[in-house]
Amino acid sequence: MAGIAINSAFDSGNIEVLSIDGDSAKLAIPYDAGGEFKQWFHFRVSGAGGRELTLKITGLNDSAYPKGWEDYDAVVSEDRDYWTRAKSSFDAGEDGGTLTIRHAPAGDIAWFAYFAPYSMERHHDLVAEAAASEGVTHHNLGNSVDGQPLDCLEMGEGETTVWLYARQHPGETQAEWWMEGALDCLTDPADPVGMHLRKRCRFFVVPNVNPDGSRRGHLRTNAAGRNLNREWAEPSEEHSPEVFHLLKAMDANPPVFAMDVHGDEAIPVSFLAGYEGIPGWTDEHGQRFYDYEAILERRTPDFQTEQGYTKSAPGKANLSMSTNQVAERFGATAMTLEMPYKDNPASPEPEQGWSPERCRMLARDCLAALLEWLDRK
Ligand code: ZN
Repeated sequence: MAGIAINSAFDSGNIEVLSIDGDSAKLAIPYDAGGEFKQWFHFRVSGAGGRELTLKITGLNDSAYPKGWEDYDAVVSEDRDYWTRAKSSFDAGEDGGTLTIRHAPAGDIAWFAYFAPYSMERHHDLVAEAAASEGVTHHNLGNSVDGQPLDCLEMGEGETTVWLYARQHPGETQAEWWMEGALDCLTDPADPVGMHLRKRCRFFVVPNVNPDGSRRGHLRTNAAGRNLNREWAEPSEEHSPEVFHLLKAMDANPPVFAMDVHGDEAIPVSFLAGYEGIPGWTDEHGQRFYDYEAILERRTPDFQTEQGYTKSAPGKANLSMSTNQVAERFGATAMTLEMPYKDNPASPEPEQGWSPERCRMLARDCLAALLEWLDRK
């Protein structure tokens, strides 16, 4: 019988095979274009039947977020639909930082990834289904560096303009799973939250801002090596056309409320980041964000406000980041939603950990919180 074979030459695949020895393999994560970030991995192991695999991903002390590997378990699937966790451990002292994944697949082929992958094929399925729904208009905002379309779905006939966008950081696949939940809610004629939101708001939904990074298996950059969430001060039509076109569309339809959806490598819970430190900050503007955050925290145990990012000091906000730029430029209530890769210790789910299902459910709570926020006094 032949030995195991490891391959990542497919949509969102990313791994380098250093060596294979029986049931074990030594691996490394290639850098994103730009050579600055590495963290996302996605590969398949064939010839795995009856084996206890030991997969060692080395060199991780140089990864984008070394803290992301602590208390982290990789995801594994044999049908590429249901992703469970494979017991993993991190040793910063082994081979420049090594994540060891141990798993005995039931069948001959297993797929491993940093988080449940979200392929570009699935993206097109999502867009097709939403675009075919009653009352939805599809816009092609422009093309990416590799020439992929930037899809935007518009719905609702209300006064309040809302922008929802995700996957500026392509390896944060949580963000597009979240979009499935959001689009389910907003396009279902029988969903009461969606029904009321469509009456009150006009939504522009961009499920994937970085299709090139998604297909190439990047964590953070586009095909030109740009971190799109650092391009919002002066997006370039050549190097960051994804942000260039999105911001142009926002200028034409200025957001009142905007949510930019992400995943955080190190923090094991969901949280929001606001726009403290923008030049035009007022307490009244900031309070609109804190009001939303408080409503969401009350609605779901999967969201909290204790852990999160350090708030910027007055005048120190980085305007190359989307949330700060959108809050400053439009006076919008803008925010960055972060979801974990790890399991949420406050409500653990040992088999799947934080999962696509949890992302979808959080999206529904985010939209229900938006409806309540519109009614607040
Ligand atoms: Zn991110």
